[in-house]
Amino acid sequence: MSETIFTKIINKEIPADILFEDERVLAFKDISPQAPIHFLVIPKKAIATTNDITAEDEALVGYMHRVAAQIAADLGAAEQGFRTVMNCNEHGGQTVYHIHLHVLAGKALGWPPYQERLKA
Ligand code: 5GP
Repeated sequence: MSETIFTKIINKEIPADILFEDERVLAFKDISPQAPIHFLVIPKKAIATTNDITAEDEALVGYMHRVAAQIAADLGAAEQGFRTVMNCNEHGGQTVYHIHLHVLAGKALGWPPYQERLKA
């Protein structure tokens, strides 16, 4: 797998606004926020897409969600709620091929994301 910009962020080769870090994951603010609160939780292990998650990654992916919820709580967003999203490949809207959990909060978010369905 080729290196992505997130590997550079993990290696501190480019800056990011880091919210949490340990040996397994890194969480940082999205550079182009789509909600008042928008951060990403990524594994330090480079996994390209959701399709590439293996049985050995199950605990890691679960841990990413626990970290997401803890940071959301620290930012005061747990009670009103938040959204976690992991985009996969082209139709999912994935642009960085190193899995990442988007966490969006701070306002009531629209649903569903597939707006054309509403027009049918
Ligand atoms: P995707 O479209 O792959 O689901 O999400 C990639 C996300 O990474 C986007 O929301 C984008 O704004 C964010 N992103 C891309 N490059 C950078 C960067 O260099 N720094 C930060 N903090 N976020 C980035």
